[in-house]
Amino acid sequence: MLAVMKESPAPGLQLKEVPAPALGPGDVLVKVHYASICGTDSLIEHWAPWAANRMKPPVIIGHEFAGEVVENGPGVDGIRPGTRVSAESHFFCGRCTQCRTGKPEICSELKIMGVDRDGAFAEYVAIPAKNLWMNHPDIPDQIATLQEPLGNALDTLLAEGVVGKRILITGAGPIGLMCAALARACGATRIMISDPNEYRLSLAGKLGADIVLNPKVAPIRESVLTATAGEGVDVLLEVSGNQDALTEALPLVTPGGRVSLLGIFRGPVPLRLTEEVIFRKLRIYGITGRGIFSTWQTLSRLLSSRRLDISQLITHELCLQDFKKGFELMEAGRCGKVLFKING
Ligand code: NAD
Ligand code: ZN
Repeated sequence: MLAVMKESPAPGLQLKEVPAPALGPGDVLVKVHYASICGTDSLIEHWAPWAANRMKPPVIIGHEFAGEVVENGPGVDGIRPGTRVSAESHFFCGRCTQCRTGKPEICSELKIMGVDRDGAFAEYVAIPAKNLWMNHPDIPDQIATLQEPLGNALDTLLAEGVVGKRILITGAGPIGLMCAALARACGATRIMISDPNEYRLSLAGKLGADIVLNPKVAPIRESVLTATAGEGVDVLLEVSGNQDALTEALPLVTPGGRVSLLGIFRGPVPLRLTEEVIFRKLRIYGITGRGIFSTWQTLSRLLSSRRLDISQLITHELCLQDFKKGFELMEAGRCGKVLFKING
């Protein structure tokens, strides 16, 4: 089968002809229909320190996908071939304290598909049956592929309630755009989003943001305060991973407000904790991964009922042979989500 892989510990990716995956105990073989590029895949492509410190090439990458079951492995039975599936990409042990107290997304033994074991930028992928998610018949494969990153956005948004809240999202990358669409579906009343990339701001307008702000054109402070009658926002979702974005946005959260941090910063971030957080009684949530499988269930219902429409987020559909073009689009930021059509 064809697969996009990290072949050796160095920058770059390779398209290779490789054997179909062998099934271990508890695994299911899935024929991949669509897969999409995540920022993590770009980090792996660049061989960023996070990837270099963790991965042991050769590894087939990719962890956002939709496909169909073709074969049950040893110890698995009853999953009908042809069943349409996606999968939770975080493989949790089920034994550690976090797993046993309902928080498998922070499992101490966590392994990630397409990072620690072979992933879905391939014609076939082996997945532990316990990680499968059965896709709703009313959700097309292209959209089902996005359920995994949508789960990150949903957890970022719903760390606390958002009904009637005024929200600022810093970063209009794919996750920030998902946050905007979800905030609208979940009842936020004013959705502001900032990004220096005009292409992405134009997508944000289509996906549900009320106000788009370019911090390169003007500081966002005045616009945010004007839009909130001088009070500031109730909720800040930091999904850029950019230190300046957080430094500029934190004082714009109203006292008693809430901050969710999902963006990954490149280094330590100095904050004025006493003045901006403690004396203003802010609550800050760190977000990693996604609720397993609570986010999957919520998203399946939002998408199948059409309460959530993220179709405009998909800006490119390529074949696996053109994978380099997909990574170039991601690098340039001239895309929403880039999909690979594999056996679709
Ligand atoms: P992305 O890199 O595509 O998007 C980030 C966006 O932030 C870009 O559009 C960029 O132009 C914008 N940005 C840069 N500087 C800015 C500034 N000063 N103000 C506002 N926006 C600014 O990333 P993504 O795929 O959308 O993911 C968002 C972030 O979340 C990334 O940092 C990613 O690493 C992180 N992430 C974390 C988890 C987790 O489990 N914690 C999971 C997925 C993604
Ligand atoms: Zn565990």
